Amino acid sequence: MRGMQAQVVIVGGGPVGMVLARELAGYGMRTVVFEAETQVSRQPKATTLHARTVQTLVRRGYLSGIATKGRTGDLSGSAVTNRPFHFAGMPGLAISAPAAEPEPILKCAQDDLERHFEQRARVAGARIMRGYRVTEVRQGADGVAVVAEGPDGRVTCTGDYLVGTDGARSLVRKGAGFTSRTYPATVSAMAGDVRLDSAEDLPPGWHRTARGWIVTKHLGAGAVRLRTLNCEGAHPDRHAPLTLEELRAEVSWLAGRDIAMSEPRWLSRFSDFSRLADSYRKDRVFLAGDAAHLHFPIGGQGLSTGLLDAVNLGWKLAFTVRGTAGEGLLDTYDEERRPAAQRVIDNTRAQLALMRPAPEIDPLRDLFGELLAGGRESGVLASMISAQDTVLPARGADSSPWGGRFLHNVDLMTDKGRTDVISLLGEGRPLLLVFGDLGHDYAEQARGWAGLVQVVYAEPVPQLSCPALLVRPDGYIAWAAGSDGPTAALTGYFGPGAAAEARSVLAGTVS
Ligand SMILES: Cc1cc2nc3c(=O)[nH]c(=O)nc-3n(C[C@H](O)[C@H](O)[C@H](O)COP(=O)(O)OP(=O)(O)OC[C@H]3O[C@@H](n4cnc5c(N)ncnc54)[C@H](O)[C@@H]3O)c2cc1C
Repeated sequence: MRGMQAQVVIVGGGPVGMVLARELAGYGMRTVVFEAETQVSRQPKATTLHARTVQTLVRRGYLSGIATKGRTGDLSGSAVTNRPFHFAGMPGLAISAPAAEPEPILKCAQDDLERHFEQRARVAGARIMRGYRVTEVRQGADGVAVVAEGPDGRVTCTGDYLVGTDGARSLVRKGAGFTSRTYPATVSAMAGDVRLDSAEDLPPGWHRTARGWIVTKHLGAGAVRLRTLNCEGAHPDRHAPLTLEELRAEVSWLAGRDIAMSEPRWLSRFSDFSRLADSYRKDRVFLAGDAAHLHFPIGGQGLSTGLLDAVNLGWKLAFTVRGTAGEGLLDTYDEERRPAAQRVIDNTRAQLALMRPAPEIDPLRDLFGELLAGGRESGVLASMISAQDTVLPARGADSSPWGGRFLHNVDLMTDKGRTDVISLLGEGRPLLLVFGDLGHDYAEQARGWAGLVQVVYAEPVPQLSCPALLVRPDGYIAWAAGSDGPTAALTGYFGPGAAAEARSVLAGTVS
């Protein structure tokens, strides 16, 4: 049996595993990814990335050639870009983001994103073991180990930490003894690409019928992507292969007339079965993405949520391995990301409740329809679906109104020239932004973390009425100048501060 050694072992090289691998390798971590499949699956899945995920990925240097970073310059702070979306299949939800940010919704096929992320992970230096299925995971007081079977036989890999990004049926979750809260399936849904005998039978769009839903997307050359929702009950066997005949019967039953179809591809079943791990951490083992949370795929939030897990965990794990993390920093991964997934599970269940074809639901649906019509929804639902309402729990005594909020992109005139927040965060370092002369004392107090923290002196910005801000590598504000200086926040996040140690981290800073 071959032996390998890594600082972080990742099981599952789907989109979440590949982003995490690139984050870690970018910080100089020896990172190994075990992925059971030899190639990225072409099965149609996610097509939507929501605003907070796009904003985060752009800051971390992803999506070049896929998303642009937004317009800065002389825009007023209130300029926004709107994109239409839906809530529970009802049109009228406007997802908006500041105009200096990328477009709030990125439409891109999941398999294209996965190839992009894998390439970034490889370039950063992660070792990707494709075709290797992990069969066993172990952890001890000093480290972790996995056993994998692949084309060249059996491999054992030891490491300091292990992350399970191995999807809904996660072996890591089961093998490491994580428990979860589950919500049983109450509906049955089907997906498939087919050719309709008569394309006019089902025009493109969301069709609510007396019995459920049919969602149709015309792919060109006569091919149609179908999704069905039947609220009469769960699939008797969710994992049984779906046949064309079953899909045809289901679509016809939902439509109330015969819909003939042929040439099936990618037939599958899904449901509203939901799961949330009770904790995202068990000592040296972590969960992220679908391995940690699962829900009904309404509103396209699963991939977006998982990618935010990966970015949140990446820098915390890297700084911990390098010895420049504050006490308890790794635990904040669970504290910050698990409530976010619970919120997604809750909103998908709420949307599904609104989608049920029951007469007693109709008035509620009409009410939501009215709120959404003509942009009368106040932005609460849009902020929730796009995760732009995320405010991280306060750490320590910091109660400034900025703390835990995401720092939106603004143009900055610095002592080194013109730049913006997105560009500055590309380095993957914590950022101390000092505005005008008032903030210079704060920069002085951060000297113990010189080398780790990037200190930038900028002209005051009207939107940021604060003398100084400390921003985490993932774009959230760790501290804002108020009654206290940044020392407590710097210690909490990055330990007591030692310039020499800090410099060693920088040797591997993401660029
Ligand atoms: C029909 C449908 C539509 C969707 N639409 C959207 C959408 O529009 N927007 C959105 O955000 N989300 C959407 N989702 C959800 C999204 O596809 C998932 O949330 C996403 O794939 C999760 O990524 P992941 O990396 O966590 O897990 P996965 O993509 O499941 O990747 C896990 C990887 O781990 C590997 N693996 C598993 N076990 C092992 C093992 N033992 N050893 C080695 N490797 C292993 C697998 O081969 C796989 O590559 C949709 C899902 C479905 C089903």
